[in-house]
Amino acid sequence: MKCVICKHGETKNGTTTITLERGSSTIVFKDVPAQICDNCGEKYVDGKNTKILLKKATELIKNGTEVDIRKFQTAA
Ligand SMILES: [Zn+2]
Repeated sequence: MKCVICKHGETKNGTTTITLERGSSTIVFKDVPAQICDNCGEKYVDGKNTKILLKKATELIKNGTEVDIRKFQTAA
């Protein structure tokens, strides 16, 4: 698709790293499937995967996790 940020680039399939911070907790997900703009580098993660990330992060934070780094595939 066309990038909505720079309006010039085309997005391509790739993976990215997403960091979620809440209070004193930092949760990092690696290898998250995303569409990445070949011009400005803007990343687009689809709604389904965003939901999975938020749910997992909320669980970890509830359990008292302060810092966690994991691969998206094993988190989902
Ligand atoms: Zn762009």
